[in-house]
Amino acid sequence: MALLELENIHTYYGNIHALKGISLTVNEAEIVTLIGGNGAGKSTTLKTISGIIRQRHGTIHLAGEDLSASKAHEIVAKGIVQVPEGRQVFGRLTVVENLEMGAFIQKDKKKIAADMERVFTLFPRLKERRSQLGGTLSGGEQQMLAMGRGLMAEPKILLLDEPSMGLAPVLVDSIFDTIQELHRLGTTILLVEQNARAALTVANRGYVLQTGEIIISGSAEDLRTNETVQKAYLGIE
Ligand code: ATP
Repeated sequence: MALLELENIHTYYGNIHALKGISLTVNEAEIVTLIGGNGAGKSTTLKTISGIIRQRHGTIHLAGEDLSASKAHEIVAKGIVQVPEGRQVFGRLTVVENLEMGAFIQKDKKKIAADMERVFTLFPRLKERRSQLGGTLSGGEQQMLAMGRGLMAEPKILLLDEPSMGLAPVLVDSIFDTIQELHRLGTTILLVEQNARAALTVANRGYVLQTGEIIISGSAEDLRTNETVQKAYLGIE
């Protein structure tokens, strides 16, 4: 059984039919990537999964449990945790306070401390800056903090929305290294990226979205060698 399963999801913004029957699966410990151009519906897919927008038709299951009608806070509590595009860290809270916000469901202080240590092992930079205000961190550090905050919620699946957006190339590499490390540790990830090349180097499988529909799906290798993907998303003629 897939850990996450979307079946025939239709999502609208008013009259705009943004998702036109999306079906996809993510298995445990997999990295699955959604690639596509601007406005393809990648962010809308993640927002629908995390309950920020409600689909008009279709179902969402997590480990067999139907979450199609669940509210956003219930979906987080079930273990689907989104790291939003644009990072959205709390600028006036310190690094530690931001991380604590991620653990808001967790009541056990020892567990919170252990989770924070784990995040600091993954992102030593955040440990160095633990008392610094979120708003004064660099773009790359804010991305690390947003991912760290997501991990503090002990996700069954982490939804990453454009983690490399706006980052210098060296930081992009470091974020993708971390995604690979998370994969090695067994974290399940649904990764939305415009940087298809980088996404397909870390992912096991992928789906290509175009104007609200999945037009191609397969293993990362299949997608890397697919002519349409090469032309449209990898810049290979
Ligand atoms: P990007 O990389 O540009 O964020 P995306 O693939 O994530 O692209 P979405 O943001 O999911 O695309 O947008 C899908 C479609 O829904 C687009 O046509 C977009 O214009 C529309 N859309 C997105 N958000 C809204 C909104 N709040 N109100 C109306 N239409 C929206």
